[in-house]
Amino acid sequence: MVPARPSVPRRTSTARGDRTPAGTRVATRSSSSCDGIASRDATGRWSVAKTMKAAVVRELGKPLTIEQIPIPTPGYGEVLVKIVATGVCHTDLHAAQGDWPIKPTPPLVPGHEGAGVVAAIGPGVTDLKVGDPVGIAWLHDACGKCEYCITGWETLCEKQRNSGYGVNGTFAEYAIGSAAYVARFPRNVDFAKMAPILCAGVTTYKGIKETEARPGEWLAVSGIGGLGHVAVQYARAMGLHVAALDVSEEKLALARKLGAQIAVDARRADATTEVAKFTGGGAHGVLVTAVSAPAFAQALELARRKGTVSLVGLPPGDFAMPIFDVVLKRITVRGSIVGTRKDMAESIAFASEGKVAPHIHHARLEDINDVFASLEAGKVDGRIVVDLA
Ligand SMILES: [Zn+2]
Ligand SMILES: [Zn+2]
Repeated sequence: MVPARPSVPRRTSTARGDRTPAGTRVATRSSSSCDGIASRDATGRWSVAKTMKAAVVRELGKPLTIEQIPIPTPGYGEVLVKIVATGVCHTDLHAAQGDWPIKPTPPLVPGHEGAGVVAAIGPGVTDLKVGDPVGIAWLHDACGKCEYCITGWETLCEKQRNSGYGVNGTFAEYAIGSAAYVARFPRNVDFAKMAPILCAGVTTYKGIKETEARPGEWLAVSGIGGLGHVAVQYARAMGLHVAALDVSEEKLALARKLGAQIAVDARRADATTEVAKFTGGGAHGVLVTAVSAPAFAQALELARRKGTVSLVGLPPGDFAMPIFDVVLKRITVRGSIVGTRKDMAESIAFASEGKVAPHIHHARLEDINDVFASLEAGKVDGRIVVDLA
């Protein structure tokens, strides 16, 4: 918890501006730097921090640098969140490398699985107070007015802003959240365990819902990494039977341990026939979390007649779809991106009840480039969480 005063600390007359001591400009959410964050030191004395540690992308494709940058000030409708733990997602790696068609603009603080407590509130915020446990996720905010926003599909809003991409994210001691969009956690939350729910959790949970598989039916989960191992747990908690596919024996073993009834090496030539045999005709829903294009083509073969394939992994490239099979078997192929605030609340509820617990490894912010290297090499089983407090 953050020992912060429940009011915005007083202004000081020191020089303001969003420049580091070295004089280099960094991305901040507002044009002014922060008023400072009051906290007690070990001797009980109050002090006001004006800067925070952050991992910054200075140039796309280059290692992140650990810097002291100004603590941002929450604007209207915003809160400043003291980040306790933040998960590291493949998307952060794509952001830092500029892999996607719409590239972020450096300097940028990545990160969108930030769990922490409200440290200060901006004007107009009435339903959050200092000390409330909250999470900053990919959907930083949305317009609230378009056809998607007004029908509960804010994740499709064309004016949405994304944490750690369009706005600074959570690889920092503090981050700005939009009060209407931050995730609400219950009291006594385990921040490190809850951080991965903010992206890995809600993304897989929503992806499973999008397959429309019903309790008692089969879900095939392709890829048992940071998303997939959470997907297996959600699926079991939702009353589904699980067939797991991966190319790593350790990951298949993890899937079995988490309740998958069958776990198959995806490279085997008979992988899909094996799943079809075990499930009596294929999976009702298929969730593809793998960051590998061949897994997308294989997913169609895993689906039962009338099945739905839900795609949440984001490898670059295309995959071919066998028209004959898709038409005759009435297969639905559906993309799914993170989850709405309602999906988020539901996915947090499962985790709060202990039904879903991401397998986590702890790291320090200073290790961020090594963490990215492990992610890129596919060496991470579960999720890496950076501890910031
Ligand atoms: Zn993510
Ligand atoms: Zn909108």
